[in-house]
Amino acid sequence: MEEHQEFDVIVVGAGNAALCAALAAREQGATVLVLEKASEDWRGGNTYFTGGAIRFAFEGMDQLVGLIPDLSRSELDSMVVPDYPTSEFYSDLMRVTEGLADTELARILVDQSYPSMRWLYQKGIRFVPLWGRQAVKEGDKHHFWGGLSLEAVGGGKGLSDQQFAIAERQKVRIRYQTKAVRLIQNQQGGVSGVTVLGPQGFQDIAAGSVVLACGGFEANTEMRTRYLGPGWEFAKVRGTPHNTGDGIRMALEIGAQPHGNWSGCHAVAWDLNAPPYGNRQITDLFQKHSYPYGIIVNINGERFVDEGADFRNFTYAHYGREIMKQPQRVAFQLFDSKVTHLLRDEYRIPQVTKAQADTVPELARKLGIDPDGLQQTIHQYNNAVQPGEFHPAALDGKRTEGIDPPKSNWALPIDAPPYHGFAVTCGITFTFGGLRINRDAQVLDTEEYPIPGLYAAGELVGGLFYHGYPGGSGLCAGTVFGRIAGDSAAKAIPR
Ligand SMILES: Cc1cc2nc3c(=O)[nH]c(=O)nc-3n(C[C@H](O)[C@H](O)[C@H](O)COP(=O)(O)OP(=O)(O)OC[C@H]3O[C@@H](n4cnc5c(N)ncnc54)[C@H](O)[C@@H]3O)c2cc1C
Repeated sequence: MEEHQEFDVIVVGAGNAALCAALAAREQGATVLVLEKASEDWRGGNTYFTGGAIRFAFEGMDQLVGLIPDLSRSELDSMVVPDYPTSEFYSDLMRVTEGLADTELARILVDQSYPSMRWLYQKGIRFVPLWGRQAVKEGDKHHFWGGLSLEAVGGGKGLSDQQFAIAERQKVRIRYQTKAVRLIQNQQGGVSGVTVLGPQGFQDIAAGSVVLACGGFEANTEMRTRYLGPGWEFAKVRGTPHNTGDGIRMALEIGAQPHGNWSGCHAVAWDLNAPPYGNRQITDLFQKHSYPYGIIVNINGERFVDEGADFRNFTYAHYGREIMKQPQRVAFQLFDSKVTHLLRDEYRIPQVTKAQADTVPELARKLGIDPDGLQQTIHQYNNAVQPGEFHPAALDGKRTEGIDPPKSNWALPIDAPPYHGFAVTCGITFTFGGLRINRDAQVLDTEEYPIPGLYAAGELVGGLFYHGYPGGSGLCAGTVFGRIAGDSAAKAIPR
């Protein structure tokens, strides 16, 4: 095994959390090596596959404009964006996690969300409003909803490309096709480097500190089935095939403390015929996120969730798991012609599994749904719809009464042909269980002591997300804790 040159900080992974850690460590003058298991063509982890939408708290248009200063006056005037104070971000996080999110990490996440966005901006990352996905146009105004208003220019690919370009300019060294396999410890139990497996074979690389930012275990069939439960081997993976739990495993092997919702994950409605792992051209477009404007049924034609329980951002990450429980792990999103203009861009890609028909039984037959079951469901649903005003950009309270599950908002009868149906299954995004960190992003051991020299950020940190997830928080968490991890890791090195 060859001994290799020493770096101040080694960052394992090359997604958003990792590159934020690398840039923060460089700010402190540390020499930084990033290890990326993927080839250069497949770099960027799940970050590359995202929509690049980032949740952050802000108050007042001035703060928002601080992130999108290049917008014209007329563009800014056309935006109606409700403030999103830290208290609201915190309460959204607590509501969807059923009050279980680690309060210390949650507080840091929401309080640091805006300063971290400004930090990204100052590093050179550019943002644009989520015109299409998070706003509804009424007259000449775009009404934003759900606490999510900006995305990186170019989406996830744009975010990742911008981050690599900045990291390269900042002289961060990146080694591709180089997989971290083991953490090296010194006699005091501190982490003093990483054993890697790359094109030249095994190498030991020494470092002052190591930041683990190499994702969860969503792409590891065995771990998925072991921790999430039977059936999860069949889930489609929405992103990179490289997040196989390596960082979590390496840390647990040296006594790190497992934390968070180990049997939980972020999973969504994903095209039935999507490939087993993410596709770098289509990225997130296999998702199907407009279900609040229609209904979702299984192959028996039965509804099984409240499609309008909340804004899409607060239910979508949970509903993939509900699809997983249905016969053959299949579901169908159905819409009538009153709402098809509201469907997101992902419903119009050529690679979509869909059918259209003028009658409900014909639609059922085309999609493989039991026609009698579907007709009965739609009949009961239509009769249960209550009067009220439909407002796609607000929780409009237009609901059903007397059916189970109810539909709590956006309940319009399904009665205007042609009818459209989209076949989906469960697509897993990332896993919730991971390592325990403290406020400096140091990894804690099972006795609650920081493991010297070891830091973590991103998907492999446990304790923030349980059961549900507010959309856009993954990139936010990776940025906030990646920045803290890189900063702490660099400052801990005696120089
Ligand atoms: C389709 C899709 C859409 C999404 N959309 C959004 C969105 O719009 N907004 C949002 O906030 N979140 C979104 N998410 C979630 C988001 O991707 C994650 O929360 C975030 O990108 C995770 O960042 P990360 O840096 O922790 O992990 P990743 O970006 O996955 O990076 C992990 C890196 O570690 C590398 N790696 C793994 N093992 C090793 C090893 N042993 N050695 C070296 N390297 C290793 C991987 O190759 C990868 O580069 C989406 C996810 C998917 C899949």
